[in-house]
Amino acid sequence: LTGYDVLLDRRANKGTAFSIEERQTYRIHGLLPPTVATPELQVERFMDNLRNMPDDLSRYIALAALQDRNEKLFYRVAMTYTQEIMPLVYTPTVGLACQKYGLIFSKPKGLFISINDKGHIYDVLSNWPIHDVRAIVVTDGERILGLGDLGCNGMGIPVGKLSLYTALAGVAPEYCLPITLDVGTNNETFLKDKYYLGLQHKRVTGKEYDEFIDEFMQAVVKRFGQQCLIQFEDFANHNAFRLLEKYREHYCTFNDDIQGTASVAVAGILSSLRITGRKLSDNTFVFYGAGEASIGMSDLLVVAMEREGVSVEDARKKIFLVDSKGLVVKDRPTGGLNEEKKRYAHERECIVKLGEIVKALKPSFLIGAAGQGPAFTREILEDMASFNEHPVIFALSNPTSKAECTASEAYEATKGQCVFASGSPFPNVDYNGKTYIPGQGNNSYIFPGVGLAIVTCGIRHIPEELFYISAKTLSEQVTEEDLAAGLVYPPIEKIHAVSRKIAVALAEYSYEHKLAAHYPKPKDLEKYIEENQYKAEYSDALPPRWDWQKKN
Ligand code: NAP
Ligand code: MN
Repeated sequence: LTGYDVLLDRRANKGTAFSIEERQTYRIHGLLPPTVATPELQVERFMDNLRNMPDDLSRYIALAALQDRNEKLFYRVAMTYTQEIMPLVYTPTVGLACQKYGLIFSKPKGLFISINDKGHIYDVLSNWPIHDVRAIVVTDGERILGLGDLGCNGMGIPVGKLSLYTALAGVAPEYCLPITLDVGTNNETFLKDKYYLGLQHKRVTGKEYDEFIDEFMQAVVKRFGQQCLIQFEDFANHNAFRLLEKYREHYCTFNDDIQGTASVAVAGILSSLRITGRKLSDNTFVFYGAGEASIGMSDLLVVAMEREGVSVEDARKKIFLVDSKGLVVKDRPTGGLNEEKKRYAHERECIVKLGEIVKALKPSFLIGAAGQGPAFTREILEDMASFNEHPVIFALSNPTSKAECTASEAYEATKGQCVFASGSPFPNVDYNGKTYIPGQGNNSYIFPGVGLAIVTCGIRHIPEELFYISAKTLSEQVTEEDLAAGLVYPPIEKIHAVSRKIAVALAEYSYEHKLAAHYPKPKDLEKYIEENQYKAEYSDALPPRWDWQKKN
């Protein structure tokens, strides 16, 4: 690359940070204003601009444009101001961005593969300019966050998620490929919207859908190899569990909505036990919602209780699920029980209202993942506080508008006694002269570290144990100080170090259990992983030079 092309290449471009020597060498001198900026100044300038923008959607667009223009700078910004940038590239703003994707799409950041490409998925994958892809995040857009079917506009999710693989764990961006599978949409608004980006027909389902996904999985292996991670994201419930079961033994794959959520929640649960001083199996858990998130959490919670020597059967007795038809119980007149829910169906009468369920069961943990918005009323929260010295309240539904309650509602109703975490971030809460810092129970503590381990060690296969190890490792990173402030997760600023710790723990396990393909096993795994992490520092753009003259 020389001349203007250097400035157009997002991986080569340094913008105003090109030195004079680099500018002359690459024939871009004069294309840039004369002052050479330091990378630090570039970051500050961008942040100043960003903060002056009128709203978060504008900020999302500005960040997306920066990612296209100067990738190193984008990641430097994201790694330096993680706490400020995360909600803009991911939940909650990414939800809004997906709803408006038809208006803001500009440059390709991933691949769109539609049902019309059936029979030619490999050819579409071959159009991606990079051969060594090691991590794919794929969605079919049917359940984007708690926003429902956004079809092809769901592309914002794999794009944002992979940006976090890089920003939070240092997975090199060139290894990452976001993919949206377009099989149509059932979103009535989009079916009529002239700006909608995808195929304007109802979703293709059944055999044709299954064949399409099958072809996709095989084509990925053919194009990028057996070790390429295929992470499923925001598929609807009826496909998510099925596809996970179908593929987990045969591909390097996981479903973050089920398994990543489970891991982050169990980490938060393990940490809160250090506050309440109880054993896991001495608790009663009520999950509001019985979908991918809640079932994933329940299943991993059972694994964790088994480690305390509790039988699977007894562990399941501690867990109660509430779905759209009420408490999940055996032979429920209202029906609606799938195989996953049946594991947790109790021999009890069905109570429908959440408030009455809470009164009857007196749970110590109330965990919301129904994607329905406010549901933890003041009365429910007060009841939780009357049953427990430190009730644990997780409002995990995303984006913010779908959260079961806000942080201030939780702290106020429980007089500051609750342990609270949410999926999307809430601002700090001042209550009774004390400042409470709400924890963020978001998968982004887990999946980047998982991805880093997979990509750097060539982990071929992802057993459930890896998510338990991740949960334990994450929880161990919570300090006594964090706990004293009511935090069950480490502060977001530590997320880079946390991701590496998770990756190291997973790498240890994977080498021990012959799951890692990259040989020989590095002597010092922590060092090896560190060396392989992407760094958002510019490298010297000049070709190698040396003094070359005849000696004497
Ligand atoms: P899902 O598989 O579609 O499950 C949704 C569940 O909520 C279903 O069991 C559904 O009941 C239930 N539900 C719907 N309306 C209800 C109502 N009025 N009362 C009680 N239950 C109701 O979705 P999911 O993947 O579990 O995700 C759910 C939410 O969790 C989303 O908002 C998502 O953004 C959030 N989430 C957060 C994180 C995080 O990191 N914090 C991670 C993953 C997901 P039926 O089974 O009867 O239909
Ligand atoms: Mn998701």
